[in-house]
Amino acid sequence: MIISLGLTAFRRLALLGALTACAACAAANVDYFTDNGYGNTVSTIHHPAAEHFNGVTYVAYSGPHEDPYVAAYVHATGQWIGPVQAGVNPMGKSPDQIDPGELDNHGRPSLVVDRQGFIHLIFGGHGGDSSLGENKFGTPGKGRFIHVVSAKPGDISTWRILDNVSPFGTYSQWVKRANGDLYLFYRHGSHRSDWVYQKSTDDGRTFAPPVSVLKHQRSAGKLTVHDSWYAWFDNGRGDTITASYVYHPCANPGHTNQRNETYYMLMDCRDGAWTNVQGETLTLPVTKASADQLTLIQATGTERTNHGTCRVDADGRPHVYFRFPHGEVRYFRWDGKAWLPPTKVADASGGGRDGDFIIDSPLKVRMFLNQSRDGTGSIDWWNTTDGGRTWARGDNVFSLNGAGFEMTTLVRNAHPDARMLVGGQVADQEHLYHRMYLIGDRGPLGRPAVEASQLGDRLELIKALPKGTPKKDAKRKKKLGLADDEP
Ligand code: ZN
Repeated sequence: MIISLGLTAFRRLALLGALTACAACAAANVDYFTDNGYGNTVSTIHHPAAEHFNGVTYVAYSGPHEDPYVAAYVHATGQWIGPVQAGVNPMGKSPDQIDPGELDNHGRPSLVVDRQGFIHLIFGGHGGDSSLGENKFGTPGKGRFIHVVSAKPGDISTWRILDNVSPFGTYSQWVKRANGDLYLFYRHGSHRSDWVYQKSTDDGRTFAPPVSVLKHQRSAGKLTVHDSWYAWFDNGRGDTITASYVYHPCANPGHTNQRNETYYMLMDCRDGAWTNVQGETLTLPVTKASADQLTLIQATGTERTNHGTCRVDADGRPHVYFRFPHGEVRYFRWDGKAWLPPTKVADASGGGRDGDFIIDSPLKVRMFLNQSRDGTGSIDWWNTTDGGRTWARGDNVFSLNGAGFEMTTLVRNAHPDARMLVGGQVADQEHLYHRMYLIGDRGPLGRPAVEASQLGDRLELIKALPKGTPKKDAKRKKKLGLADDEP
């Protein structure tokens, strides 16, 4: 199947815009590169959402119909290409929805560029529909995990489906090794499913079968609760891949979105063996009992926590952050002997909510976090020079009055001008479209307004829709604890 749409139409539109709009309008820069982000456009658990490769930063997000959209920023010329639609999300609904509860959001794309420059996306899955057959690693969910690749290296105009990964995935995470091997980590189904990976040594053309890493099973001594997990994977130092994760007691009946405990472990990519931070061997898949015994960072008890990101310093020691209630970001560091007591990344104005970080040296760390201050969404650097004992808010990179941000992980191989793809979030608007920004040390990489305007007459059509009862379903899902991903 070949999908080729968007770019040609876009070029025509841009040309038309240049011919009909006044010169001043065409030159007017806006700070976003598109206005057609849709719903919860990006997240840190579908990652990465962007990669810098050969002078171009490629970004992917959820656009209209929750379909995956891709755009490319050419650093040498300062020009944007796209966005273009790269596939069709089976969970998307038509016409445009105005109730956020109608959107699934789990089908967001994650992106990787292979050694040859082909761009790959995984999207469309929330565990895979039961009609797809038997899920050997858990319970089915919705949608279908779909892998697409650009038809040509470095060219986002045309995409092809590669039917070579399990359809039962969600939370796709690409880990690209220095040698070009691709590891695709994901949860193999809905809540009650294992976390697995599939490995490709041929630039994503074929994948080995899934290997289970974290096991779901009925909780010991409990009839109605299943052990479930939220995990985050990326490269460590040398030949390693790290996993930082939290536990979810999946209850039925009485389901809640409770998550607690923080954990860490790592894989040696040379033989696929997993160990804890002390180097003790783990038996795969890791169960709740062995996780508690061997990989626990901190028992948080009833305090809710959620995954953040993990990076490893030059000494091979992991630094991790996890998210806690009220937007609190807590930083954890292994000093070679023990996990140091977590510290809150914050100053008097409060703390960051979500994002990612860079380790400059074992004691010097910079976090790139969003927060809201007096109704203004803000993305700032947060710095420590004493190993995380104290944090100070550094430079503001970007802020928006009356809006918040959805964060991603740092762009893979990022250019300093393009560190992170973020989605704007404006509450209290009559549609679910949001502006998308690519931000770096010089602020957002904008473009002429006529190019960033991608919605056509969508907003007019939405106004003409019969009014429903927006947010009813979202509230219902929240009450039931079924809104299982974090904005
Ligand atoms: Zn659950």
